Amino acid sequence: MIQGKKMLVVSAHAADYVWRSGGTIAKYIKNGAEVHVVVLSFGIRGESNDLWKKEGATYESVKAERLAETTEAARILGIEHIEFWDLPDYPMAPALDEAVRERLIRKIREVRPDIILTHDKNGEDVLNPDHNAVSRFVFESSIQANSNGVRIEGTKTTKQMRLFGFEPHQTELSRFFPGELIDITEVYDQKVAAMKCFKAQSHLIEYYTERAFLRGNHIRRISGNQTYKYAECFSNFFPVAGEELV
Ligand SMILES: [Zn+2]
Repeated sequence: MIQGKKMLVVSAHAADYVWRSGGTIAKYIKNGAEVHVVVLSFGIRGESNDLWKKEGATYESVKAERLAETTEAARILGIEHIEFWDLPDYPMAPALDEAVRERLIRKIREVRPDIILTHDKNGEDVLNPDHNAVSRFVFESSIQANSNGVRIEGTKTTKQMRLFGFEPHQTELSRFFPGELIDITEVYDQKVAAMKCFKAQSHLIEYYTERAFLRGNHIRRISGNQTYKYAECFSNFFPVAGEELV
């Protein structure tokens, strides 16, 4: 049941949440969930190669373009709650200090999500250390948000939420293991339109279009539901826990 669910998405760079979870985000919003997105950096150093090829490109000009692109993508996906924390990237790990940790714990306690989507924890993104650092950081912060002993003025401890990991770009090389396949057929056009906002990474549009098609094949085969055409894949941080096998 999506209606009424709260989701927090933490994206290392400006476009990660769109490539890897844009369909799921749009579907959740369309079906009555409350979705909050935190974009930790614009990916200015590491994920804006094409923008740097422009004559006279500067850190500030690239940042402005990335902000415009991701804002438009978020609008297309229907996202109303999005924050840009503007941390440095490549490398991001040194910027993930105690102040940012407290800010994230505060955010988790404010949103009180049922679900957190972020970078995969179980494997290791073979070409992107920022994604690995963010995964660890979000996981640790979520556990701290749930701990009574982590006292932060004006916040209340959260209950254990579910965490899911984005499928990384080099799936097998990153030892990613599919845990969830989510049908995104009803919002697929929105995802494609949102991906087209990112001119610095236009080569990825075809890749993620094909990925949605491939995962669509898998979800049809496993679920038996032939109406599923396109899907996104996530890893599970935790086992499924309940009263029956699902
Ligand atoms: Zn990234």
